[in-house]
Amino acid sequence: MTDILDLTVVIPVFNEQETLDELHTRLVAVLEKMARPYEVIMVDDGSTDGSFETLCRLNSGDSRIRVLRLARNFGQSPALYAGLSKARGRYVLIIDADLQVLPEDIPLLVAKLDEGYDAVSGWRADRKDTLFRRAASKLLNRYIAGVTGLSLHDYGCSLKGIRRELVGHMVDFSHRCRYLPVDMAMLGGRFAEVVVGHSERTRGNSKYGMLKLVRTAFDLITGITDAPLRYIGLLGWLMSFGGFAMGIKVAANRVIYGNVNQLESVVALFFFCSGVQLVASGMMCEYIGRIFIEVQRRPYFVVAEER
Ligand code: UDP
Ligand code: MG
Repeated sequence: MTDILDLTVVIPVFNEQETLDELHTRLVAVLEKMARPYEVIMVDDGSTDGSFETLCRLNSGDSRIRVLRLARNFGQSPALYAGLSKARGRYVLIIDADLQVLPEDIPLLVAKLDEGYDAVSGWRADRKDTLFRRAASKLLNRYIAGVTGLSLHDYGCSLKGIRRELVGHMVDFSHRCRYLPVDMAMLGGRFAEVVVGHSERTRGNSKYGMLKLVRTAFDLITGITDAPLRYIGLLGWLMSFGGFAMGIKVAANRVIYGNVNQLESVVALFFFCSGVQLVASGMMCEYIGRIFIEVQRRPYFVVAEER
């Protein structure tokens, strides 16, 4: 598909009625100033507060504002991907609807893409969220950097810019438990980071309560790699070797000194048998891990350039 537009801005919206008008005004002001052909795709993720009606009003006054309504609340990530699948711009920008990250920072991201980067992520250097969230994000950032090999300060920043070629690959993945920045990083390419502003949420509520945050973090950890599965087999080998070594010690005592330490023999047997069972589970995990990788359908390779 040839690009017919320069920029597409994708925005997931779930009960954000109170900010939509301001978001629209500020976003359009920024985009008009850049003087490049654009479209905005607002994805209503099953809102129940009249957000959709507001989006329809914005759309009826301006055909560059496109609206998708999901059949129910699917979640931020599905809403984003729904928008990405419809994007027609050469560059695709994503931003939240709640004005915590600022539309005014979009030109910074576009400038990086103009420089030739494949993707650019905002970095909320002065992030206005709770200490708990900032600390948890720090750990998760490290984890994702370890898995993907791409070290970013702020994977979770919801202001990002991605070239459409990359977006095309991302919407082709078929796994369900997914996290956009990881899909992006897994594809490789040239990535940039720019410091962006961040403000507290002044209207509406965060859609992530404590329970959902923990659930999301757990999904993220187990959703992007099969590494935890591999440790099960390793633990099994360690335990069975430990048990075996203890068994040898018990046997040697019996031969050399003629006495048997009953507790030690039971412990040795216990470790050995449990270890063998874990090794067997580990073998199964190897296969499950492979299924996990297959169903993700990440591209086997991505050609960046051919001359
Ligand atoms: N969002 C969504 N579906 C959901 C939850 C959130 O589309 O189920 C949208 C929400 O409207 C906002 C963005 O995702 O535009 C980020 O949500 P929120 O601001 O609540 O997250 P936080 O900033 O607290 O991480
Ligand atoms: Mg927010």
